[in-house]
Amino acid sequence: MDKQALTGAFGIYTTVWIQKGRYHFMNSISIKSFILSIIFVAFALEGYIFYNFFENSKETISKLLQTSIQTDVLNLKHFMEKNLKQKDINFIASHIDNIIIINPTVKDIHILDSNKNIIYHANIRYEDYNHSTQKCLPISKITNTNIFTQQCYSFSIKTFHGLQAKYYYANVYIDEAYTHGLIAQQIRKILVAFLVSAFVFILFLWVLSKIYIITPLEKLRQYAYYSRNPPKNFFVKEIESIRYSLNMTFKRLQQEQEELYNLSTKDPLSGLYNRLSLIEKINWLIAKNKRDKKEFAIIFLDLDNFKNINDSKGHAFGDKILLHIAQVLLKTTRENDIVARLGGDEFVVILPDFSNENTIIEIAQRLKEKLSLPFRIEDEEYQITASMGIAIYPKDGRDVQTLLKNADIAMYKSKELGKNNFQFFTNAINKAVQEKIHMQQIIKDALQHNHFKLYYQPKVDIKTKKIVGCEALIRLIDPVEGIIPPYRFIGIAEENRTIIPLGEWIIQEAVAQIKKWEQTPLKNIKISVNLSAVQFQDPKLLQKIQKYTQDIDRSKFDIELTESVLIQHFKERLNIIKNIKKLGITLSLDDFGTGYSSLSYLKDIPFDTLKIDKAFIDNIYTKDDLTFINMIVGIAQDLHMNVVAEGVETKEQLKLLEEINCKEYQGYLCSKPVPPKKFEELFSLGCV
Ligand code: C2E
Ligand code: CA
Ligand code: CA
Repeated sequence: MDKQALTGAFGIYTTVWIQKGRYHFMNSISIKSFILSIIFVAFALEGYIFYNFFENSKETISKLLQTSIQTDVLNLKHFMEKNLKQKDINFIASHIDNIIIINPTVKDIHILDSNKNIIYHANIRYEDYNHSTQKCLPISKITNTNIFTQQCYSFSIKTFHGLQAKYYYANVYIDEAYTHGLIAQQIRKILVAFLVSAFVFILFLWVLSKIYIITPLEKLRQYAYYSRNPPKNFFVKEIESIRYSLNMTFKRLQQEQEELYNLSTKDPLSGLYNRLSLIEKINWLIAKNKRDKKEFAIIFLDLDNFKNINDSKGHAFGDKILLHIAQVLLKTTRENDIVARLGGDEFVVILPDFSNENTIIEIAQRLKEKLSLPFRIEDEEYQITASMGIAIYPKDGRDVQTLLKNADIAMYKSKELGKNNFQFFTNAINKAVQEKIHMQQIIKDALQHNHFKLYYQPKVDIKTKKIVGCEALIRLIDPVEGIIPPYRFIGIAEENRTIIPLGEWIIQEAVAQIKKWEQTPLKNIKISVNLSAVQFQDPKLLQKIQKYTQDIDRSKFDIELTESVLIQHFKERLNIIKNIKKLGITLSLDDFGTGYSSLSYLKDIPFDTLKIDKAFIDNIYTKDDLTFINMIVGIAQDLHMNVVAEGVETKEQLKLLEEINCKEYQGYLCSKPVPPKKFEELFSLGCV
């Protein structure tokens, strides 16, 4: 194999690798290719060694041949010089023939006389051999290389016939077939040795790498991919270290997975199940109970006033309470009940099996009792209660979301009904809650898209029958539902505190109306605006009222308040009310007579007007029915207060009110609340 062919083959082979490598993994070759390349290099190396070995043995052979020829030639020369005479040529013939027979390298020997005529030739084996074509080299020029190409060598023989020297020549013919055969035989031997050793070497290397590298690596690959059936120890250090590292990694991964699972299924604060695993468990129960046609119950628990505790005592303290609750829940429930914390102060208890609804009631009752027991934190005694809602699978929901939502709805109802209790989910509760949710959305949209309008209901001077003022009453004009009356949304707006921005809008709108009327005949009309108790939760209420009313004559602006405003934070709110009054705004006590201790407020708060609730007006048919109203009117007069009778619908009612000197009335008898334009018309026409 010559060198060029070798590098050429190697070149092709490496390009194939690189292309393969690019296709699969950039810059990396497979172990298989790597070993094949080692074999290839080893093969080339072995080839090179064997080639040299062949050259050496060829040289040895040629040396051997050369020596044997030279020895024979030397012997012959010596023998002939000693014995050759013209006559006795035959005497040496047997000697020559002997050489030819014994030395297979020598094919023929010609003896020539001084005139170069052949006087003897052996030619025992090749009779038709044409010697004349052969050119002969002097025997001294015989070398390792030309012995295989040069067929004829000659030498001269000097004999003496007496004193006269005579020259003879001898041509020695080499048996080319024999010498070439010798070389061919050597090549064959070496080739066989080369092939056998190469094959054995490749096989050995292949088996070794298969056992110790390829198979272990494949096992490792499978282990890494499927992460199961860890393989046993490997012989090769590096592979064994990879196996060990993989083992350790998988162990660590498993640990981390377990920790993660715990983290993802348990609530870190209470150790109870979290929302995720609760959902999983409910789903599992649904599947199971669907098959078994059985029921299970969900109790949704929300702590009462927890937000206040959290806000006043801090979150760390709140966490302690939550932990206490978690422990109470675990202690109070049975072993196969599921207790979870949904987040915040919301907990869920699942009763996977119960005999009848009484069992649920008993458990809920027990929870209520145990939860409301006093407990100690940091040497102080506390008490907390919870409101609960109960939903039952499948009647209250067939999927997790519905069940949890309905239990939540029932809990909400339980809160509404005074907290520290439980409530089963019912369709009626559901409807009410749905309506509430729907309304909340409508209010939100209305605030965004200006769907609110202020209507005005006249207040009429009973004596002159002139419209002297009006009450601004809000209307929600929904694009789908039309006009929505306040009873459907005021309560909800109060609950979610949207009454605060809404109330501000009402004040601004009423002020704007006063301004519009300033240059018209309605310039003296006083507008009363209702203020909700929730608006007093806004610490900036006073400043806002001051700001919004700064551009008008405040004596034309009146605020109607009900007693509910003063149920909580009496002192603080009384102060605000007094300050409003100081601004020059007048105050009306709304729905008078329906509250708790109406009269007592009159001495504390400087009200300008008393509005007698419609309920009292509804019941007056004769003068006898007027006793109560009469009394109120009397007190109002004594205190220099105005009196407005609300909800006057009939002329009879008006007549009776007139008789007792009630100053003003408001009611359908004059008009329902109307939009500003309509109010202007009413004003010019007057009321009865
Ligand atoms: P309210 O402040 O007592 O308002 C008087 C309510 O009685 C008004 O109902 C009015 O339309 C109604 N009314 C007046 N005269 C008659 C009558 O002769 N017959 C009958 N059947 N009803 C009469 P409305 O407008 O539905 O408001 C109901 C309640 O909603 C109000 O009671 C008030 O508490 C609240 N509200 C209305 N508008 C506002 C507002 O702008 N802000 C606040 N915070 N509450 C408002
Ligand atoms: Ca009112
Ligand atoms: Ca009223």
